Amino acid sequence: MSKPEPSTTTNFIRQIIDQDLRSGKHGGRVHTRFPPEPNGYLHIGHAKSIVLNFGIARDYQGLCNLRFDDTNPHKENIEFVDSIQADVRWLGYDWDDRLFYASDYFQQLYDFAVELIQAGKAFVCDLDSEQMRTYRGTLTEPGRESPYRTRSVEENLDLFARMKAGEFADGERVLRAKIDMASPNMNMRDPTLYRIRHGVIHHQTGEAWCIYPMYDYTHPVSDALEGITHSLCTLEFEDHRPLYDWVLDNISIPSHPQQIEFSRLNLEYTVLSKRMLTQLVEEGFVEGWDDPRMPTIAGMRRRGYSAASIREFCQRIGITKSDGLVEMGMLENCIREDLDAHAPRRMAVLHPLKVVIENYPDEKSETLTTSNHPKDETMGVREIEFCREVYIDRADFREQANKKYKRLVTGGEVRLRNAYVIKCEEVVKNNQGEIIELRCSYDPETLGKNPEGRKVRGVVHWVSARHGIKGEVRLYDRLFGKADAGRVDEGGRFTDNLNPDSLRTLTDCCFEPALGSAIAGEQYQFEREGYFMLDSREAAREEPVFNRIITLRDSWAKIDKPGG
Ligand code: ATP
Ligand code: MG
Repeated sequence: MSKPEPSTTTNFIRQIIDQDLRSGKHGGRVHTRFPPEPNGYLHIGHAKSIVLNFGIARDYQGLCNLRFDDTNPHKENIEFVDSIQADVRWLGYDWDDRLFYASDYFQQLYDFAVELIQAGKAFVCDLDSEQMRTYRGTLTEPGRESPYRTRSVEENLDLFARMKAGEFADGERVLRAKIDMASPNMNMRDPTLYRIRHGVIHHQTGEAWCIYPMYDYTHPVSDALEGITHSLCTLEFEDHRPLYDWVLDNISIPSHPQQIEFSRLNLEYTVLSKRMLTQLVEEGFVEGWDDPRMPTIAGMRRRGYSAASIREFCQRIGITKSDGLVEMGMLENCIREDLDAHAPRRMAVLHPLKVVIENYPDEKSETLTTSNHPKDETMGVREIEFCREVYIDRADFREQANKKYKRLVTGGEVRLRNAYVIKCEEVVKNNQGEIIELRCSYDPETLGKNPEGRKVRGVVHWVSARHGIKGEVRLYDRLFGKADAGRVDEGGRFTDNLNPDSLRTLTDCCFEPALGSAIAGEQYQFEREGYFMLDSREAAREEPVFNRIITLRDSWAKIDKPGG
């Protein structure tokens, strides 16, 4: 597995860390964390955060923890816990023995909440959620204090203990911080710290707890308990930072990590909201979380993207505070550059048309040797079989065409790549007038050299009809047809933006024999067609199934630009 490379570019977060190291803040240490909620699979947006957090730890000789933010048990499960670990590892990162769960801290979180109550900084509130909303006020009007805010410490301690003991129903009571109902920051208007959730079995703690701490309370405490120095999160948490700091300033914990926000990744032609991705899976718009069209790490891995190219993309987009939509072309360029350099070349015919070479002896066949990569000799050579019957692609033949058509025409000549020049002598059709076969001749003097005194139109790829392997190809394209895929028109759904042609399946393809030993994880360029990889989920099938990773060139560049 490829190892992450050191980052060569700086960003505003690294500059803050440099400054902190100079001033000795946080004891000269760097310790970050990646804190996913196990309520879905990781996507390319998470990759940005992973590369940032683990990359900083590595470049500063620090540490990065993996921590599951698992305080919302009804949406979380163990499948997500497992897939997240597999995906972070596959991306090339390791948390050693520092795998944590926020639920590891449920007892400590409870004890700190008791401290807050004892200090008169938290109270049990009986308002229901509707009343809470009206009491909270608006951005322009201050909120009103809950009538329960003046409960005595003793009463609060008693009620909180009974909440934990399961005496109250869901929603009947919550624990709230006592901060400031007039604060211009809504997050500081006595935010909820704990809520009651009966009847869910938590994937880590089972039925031990029926009260669960809120994210805004759990996160700072977990960070501090783990000795995190820099807690990096996305911009929507900027307004939550005063609460993050308030929590740490009001409990007896010496460490105080620094929260720093950066902009989240938004990518054209896809969605990176877990709610939407969950919907695509649950409503069957895709095959699953690892559908090769999904922007998930699992989907990209199955599609054939390498971990190195995903990391490279995350480096190129950089870390800033300004939100925007990153061009899909950026990601695709990283994928293509990586594949162009590393993928061995092979030949595969996706829409086969039989060619019979009439002057080639029926019983003969030849083993030809050809290079695996035109620019990289170290990738070696392979053998291909040539005989009287080969397939070419239907798109590489026309009965008539002008000079611009660089492929085979009736009476014209083309080179079969890595082999001989052939000439089309006759077109065979069925009763419906469809072309079913070409009768050709070959020039035995053209192996590895050009014919004398005449020009051939071009070069086409081919596979021996007798030696080739039959199989399936899945042509994947962008999942959404609209750049701003999450934007919904009045009365519409985001799924209206799906690209109806994001998957086309070809079942009658023919692959050169060397592809018989292909395994999932090895990417190939099918010459003139694109980059492909064996589908890991179909490995048990007798006939191979290849996924198209990406086309050779960007065919979308001129089509659907944002606003165009
Ligand atoms: P949710 O809506 O479920 O909270 P989330 O996208 O915040 O979804 P988390 O599992 O909480 O998902 O995210 C884990 C970490 O990854 C967080 O630190 C979050 O900021 C970061 N992250 C999530 N999405 C992106 C994104 N699109 N770009 C950059 N970082 C992201
Ligand atoms: Mg989140």
